[in-house]
Amino acid sequence: MVMNLGWPAKASEEPLLQKPLYQANVHIDPVKKEVSGSIAIIFWPKDPKHAYLHLYPDVFTKRQDGMLWEELLGKEPGLGTYDSNKLTVDGKAVAGKKTGHILEIPLAAEGEPISETGPHKIELDFAMKLPHNDGRMSYDEHAIWLGNWLPILAVYDQGGWRLDAYEPVGDPFYSEVADYEVNVTFPAGYQWASTAPDKAAEVTAPSKGEKTARLRVKDVRDFALVVMDASYQSTESKAGDTVVRTWWRQGDDVQQAKQNHQAAVSSLAYFHQNLGAYPYTEYDVIRTGGAINGMEYPALVFLDGRHFLANAEYAIDTVVHETAHQWFYGLVGNDQLREAWLDEGFTEYATISFLTEQYPLHGAERVRRRLANGTFVPLYVKEHQRPWQALTEFPANQYYSDLVYSRTTSMLWLLRGAWGEERLYDVLRQYVATYRYQLVSGEQWKAFLTKAAGEDASAFLDYWMNLDMSQQEQAAAWLERQREKQQK
Ligand SMILES: [Zn+2]
Repeated sequence: MVMNLGWPAKASEEPLLQKPLYQANVHIDPVKKEVSGSIAIIFWPKDPKHAYLHLYPDVFTKRQDGMLWEELLGKEPGLGTYDSNKLTVDGKAVAGKKTGHILEIPLAAEGEPISETGPHKIELDFAMKLPHNDGRMSYDEHAIWLGNWLPILAVYDQGGWRLDAYEPVGDPFYSEVADYEVNVTFPAGYQWASTAPDKAAEVTAPSKGEKTARLRVKDVRDFALVVMDASYQSTESKAGDTVVRTWWRQGDDVQQAKQNHQAAVSSLAYFHQNLGAYPYTEYDVIRTGGAINGMEYPALVFLDGRHFLANAEYAIDTVVHETAHQWFYGLVGNDQLREAWLDEGFTEYATISFLTEQYPLHGAERVRRRLANGTFVPLYVKEHQRPWQALTEFPANQYYSDLVYSRTTSMLWLLRGAWGEERLYDVLRQYVATYRYQLVSGEQWKAFLTKAAGEDASAFLDYWMNLDMSQQEQAAAWLERQREKQQK
């Protein structure tokens, strides 16, 4: 497809009603690896009796056993600590109840329902010593990377409260868009990058040798932060109105870092054009330690050090994939524990579409692998495995990769074959515009696809996403009719 020059109009700036606000004051000691602070969450209750917070750092204070945990955290992870106290609701002390990493917060005493007219405020203090592992929240000698570290409200959807345990497969997160006001204090010699527009942040010096960054950002699903020592440097360029910054450290391959940066800039511009306007003014690509590969957060992604070695084989592909997540996961949210295909599969389709156009050698190889792994799946049929199942059902990362990534991508790639790339992007752009800043379900995508196709898409989705082999012929016939209609 030929890209138009110029940028689409900005998305409408209609304020979301009843959007939570997180206000945090945090102190980080990069030498002791300690993070402590307080958070206030101003929100509209979904349930008159309770609210629930995910305290994800709590997961890494206990030993987790098994192959999948070892693949996520490494062979000998060091445990962290996590304490939370001084819990209040609207200024009154309450007793929370912790089950696993979930904190249940009573909003009202028995027989005394909370007022439903206005927002309420939860306040909580927390203190942690960081765990040492290969995952999303840890540290090494040059950086502290904090993913899924602040207390965050659980989602209440049509299935009720979603209070799932942390899973070692996939990205076990589900959250709603909110605003964040985070003040972070750390030693003056360190640098930082976060979900907020950091270049625009006000910085003050509360005491000698320390600085406080006032970080403000609206309409994000989470808030990630990386604190880096002086060995880090960044390069930046603009993609439309967004400043893209890529951060790497001394000892990394400069050539590879620049190539990663270029891929981030050009893919952000491409997705902005094809999937709808990117609303954030700054996008950070950050080299972390550990071995998470790549991990997406709003307006910021992590790439582990392997992506900054000379001629790193998959570095470009990973950068592009994490950038595509800014749309699928970031702008359009979903239950990543039950319907991961909605974020991973759509992200990977956008990735191979971009690569095919702008990095054809990478693109051709990646398309070939995705189709090979996603279309021939007799083993998974036999084992009743499918893309449209919860993370808890996947016995190994290979199953997750083949089904959630490759099979969903294959389905969309075949749809592109029938419709053409341009029409599929038109539909995806409409889909993103419809669910921008919201949560979408697989059923909603089915309805959306049905409408776009002008014909019930159930058989097509049942065959591809539920591996219902009884629908195989129907799915093929559906696709063929779509092809014929498009050619008319
Ligand atoms: Zn992904």
